[in-house]
Amino acid sequence: MKQLLWIGGEYRATTSYFELKNPYSLETIADIAIAKPDDVDAAISAANQSAAKMAAMPSYQRAEILEKVAGFLEEEREECARVISEEAAKPLKAARAEVERTIMTYKFASQEARRIHGETVPMDAAPGGEGRLAFTVREPIGVIAAITPFNFPMNLVAHKVGPAIAAGNTVVLKPASQTPLSAYKIAEFFHRAGLPEGALNVVTGSGSSIGDVLIKDERIKMITFTGSPEVGKYIRENSGLKRVTLELGSNSAVIVDDKVNLEKVIPRIVTGAFSYQGQVCISIQRVFVHEHIADTFIEQFINEVKKLKTGNPLNENTDISALISKGDVERTKQWVDEAVAAGAGLKLGGDSSDGIFQPTVLVDVQSTEKVSCEEIFAPVVHINRFKTMEEAIELVNDSKYGLQAGIFTNDIHHGLQAAKKLEVGGVMINEIPTFRVDQMPYGGVKLSGMGREGVKYAVEEMTELKLISFKME
Ligand code: NAP
Repeated sequence: MKQLLWIGGEYRATTSYFELKNPYSLETIADIAIAKPDDVDAAISAANQSAAKMAAMPSYQRAEILEKVAGFLEEEREECARVISEEAAKPLKAARAEVERTIMTYKFASQEARRIHGETVPMDAAPGGEGRLAFTVREPIGVIAAITPFNFPMNLVAHKVGPAIAAGNTVVLKPASQTPLSAYKIAEFFHRAGLPEGALNVVTGSGSSIGDVLIKDERIKMITFTGSPEVGKYIRENSGLKRVTLELGSNSAVIVDDKVNLEKVIPRIVTGAFSYQGQVCISIQRVFVHEHIADTFIEQFINEVKKLKTGNPLNENTDISALISKGDVERTKQWVDEAVAAGAGLKLGGDSSDGIFQPTVLVDVQSTEKVSCEEIFAPVVHINRFKTMEEAIELVNDSKYGLQAGIFTNDIHHGLQAAKKLEVGGVMINEIPTFRVDQMPYGGVKLSGMGREGVKYAVEEMTELKLISFKME
């Protein structure tokens, strides 16, 4: 199968293609078009030409288009899950869950499209402001470049395209090179749903070459990026005065306080640490357990992790499959070995076979080790002990990242203390930091990014606030 670019409402051939391989079986799935700079330029032109039409489209029509996309996903949910599973090596169970969330995201986008509005402004609150009627409106920002990562290839596209279309913008979408098919599938759904030609364009190829064209083009008004901090920083520093939102990585932590019910908590933490091989931006990487319960916790945790099944992502019962690339397997091994050489205890895993890194549990890891202070993005978790809640909060905050954090506690004061003091975008009390539903505000502080997603919040980022003031005689 040859996958062409999607520009201006039609497929467009180009001169070169790359082989997309299944990360687990290494079989070729499709040949994917590599966009040249003039293809990217054509996509931006198409989006620019369509911008006025989208801005003029009534909100109920934008809402209907988004609702139809959700409907097509519902009809083809199994096919969509297979696409994700094959190109991302995401276990089918997790891929199905992603499709269900993608449906919700487009439904929320459809609802938000109908309620974008401003507010009245009390101009007479300032001397000289009297005699005026003023209000704000939210207008579409124009052409938005959306750059997405491999790990949630449908739902993270939805978190950008959904609110962008809800707000009346147009989009040039650049999906991750490993997961282009999920994005092209969504473009097809939008086309079938009646989105005007050029309102959504998909270009594939190397992130740096396409990225550089998108970042520099004056017709693009905003870049919404989800991916690694290195690329996010590059985009921010090179995109001039464009609006930029960045959803970046983390080394998320969870605190487990004394006296919590371990039978309930441990399976949740195992899910948070190992879903999709730990390749989730809010995967649990660091677990801080009260010293009174640490030994019991470690023993029970390891027993629970041993239940995870590794294998082909297309098998119904697989929990853990191949990492996204061989390079990531090698890097993970190196980081784990370094931590062990520095004194960490290896309780489970630590190696790989057939591209699958075994679920790995380390204990007593120094915070300066890469498995702790860098984002590992692999099925590796470490467990350290704490004595007081102050110490636990300090340990969580001792990070250059700050996306979400979780705390399990029976002490309301500890919960409130954590809520106030944790330096993150979201605090989950009695829940794992990996928890997300698609309408909640979501985003990070520090190196985890800037701006918020969650459809309503993304719509705010993707609109310009305009003030209108009437001076009355
Ligand atoms: P990545 O390597 O940064 O790639 C993300 C996207 O950026 C891809 O489409 C990539 O294209 C593109 N890209 C690469 N270099 C670029 C450049 N110079 N200019 C413009 N675009 C460029 O990230 P990834 O490995 O796909 O995803 C994993 C990362 O995403 C992790 O750090 C994870 O935490 C983060 N993430 C964050 C969130 C969140 O909401 N906070 C959610 C999910 C993932 P190519 O694929 O062609 O290189």
